[in-house]
Amino acid sequence: LMQLSVPLNFIGFVYREIRQGLTDIEQMFELLDVEPEVRDLPGARPLAVDQGAIRFDNVNFSYDPARPILKGISFEVPAGKTVAIVGPSGAGKSTISRLLYRFYDIQSGNIVIDGQNLRDVTQKSLRSAIGMVPQDTVLFNDTIAYNIRYGRIDASDDEVNRAADLAQIGDFIRGLPEGFNAMVGERGLKLSGGEKQRVAIARTILKAPPILILDEATSALDTATEQEIQAALDFVSKGRTTLVIAHRLSTVVSADEIIVLKNGEIAERGRHTDLLAQKGLYTSMWDRQREATEAEEQLKRMREED
Ligand code: ATP
Repeated sequence: LMQLSVPLNFIGFVYREIRQGLTDIEQMFELLDVEPEVRDLPGARPLAVDQGAIRFDNVNFSYDPARPILKGISFEVPAGKTVAIVGPSGAGKSTISRLLYRFYDIQSGNIVIDGQNLRDVTQKSLRSAIGMVPQDTVLFNDTIAYNIRYGRIDASDDEVNRAADLAQIGDFIRGLPEGFNAMVGERGLKLSGGEKQRVAIARTILKAPPILILDEATSALDTATEQEIQAALDFVSKGRTTLVIAHRLSTVVSADEIIVLKNGEIAERGRHTDLLAQKGLYTSMWDRQREATEAEEQLKRMREED
C-alpha cells in the first residue's frame, strides 16, 4: 500500500500545484504540444504592469535553427489599444502570441512589457497578467459555473452570473435544465465552438487581466453568433492592451493597427482603410473573405427557401 500511496500523493500534489499556480495551464497546453523549455533567470522579478504597453523590437525567432520563422519583427501595442495580426496560414501569427506568453525564448531582439524585458521577469507573473482567449477552449468535465469561475476561483455566484451575461452566454446557460450546474465537457453537454469561446471570454472577464491575447476562430460563424461574440470581445478588450490573431472583418476594421504578416515578415501595416487603399495583400485577403462569406450566406438562403 505504501508503494501505491506515494505516487498517488504525488499526483495529488502535481494536480494542486497546477490548479493553484498556473490558472492558464490548460490554455498553455493548447498553444503548444511540447514542454516549455523556458526557465526563469536567477533573481527574476515579478512583472510590474502599470499601463500594459507591449513592444516587439527586432524579434527573430525559429523553432528549429535551420528554419527562421519570425524575421526582424517590430511593432508596438500601446496601452489599452488593439493590434490585429493577419496573414496567410503559416505566416507566424500564433507564434507571435506564444512568444508574448513566453513559451519560447527568442533568438535575438527584445519583447518588452512596460519597459521590462520578458527574459527578466518570472513566468508566473507574466502569465497572470495575460488573459488568453484561444480558438478552441478545452472545458473541464465539471459544471459550467466551475468552468467560468476558473478565471478567478474566489468569484461569487453573482460575479459568475454577471461575467456570463457580459460574455453573451448568460441567457443560454439559464435556459439549460440545470442552468449553471449543467455538466459540460466530454462527458457532459457538448458546446459549440462559439459557446465555448464565450465561456472562455466569461472566464477572462473574471480574471480581468491588463493584457489580452485573442485567437479568433477561423471557422465561419453565422452572423448572429458572430455579432454576439464580437460584443463580448469588445467588452472584454475595452481599456485592455489587446493582441488579436484576427480572422474576422469586424475585428480588424476597428483595430488601432493591423499587421499583415507574410513568411515571418511584416508585409503591410496600418489601419483598415489605409491598407485597403494600398490594394496589396490585405486587400486581396479581404476580398476573398468577403466572397466566401457572401457565398455562404447565399447557400444558407437557398437552404432556408427549400
Ligand atoms: P495559421 O493561420 O495556419 O494558424 P500561423 O500564421 O498562426 O498559421 P504559426 O502557427 O505561427 O502560423 O506557424 C508558423 C510556422 O512555424 C509554420 O510554418 C509552422 O509549421 C511552424 N511551427 C509552428 N509551431 C511549431 C513548432 N512547435 N515546432 C516547429 N515548427 C513550428
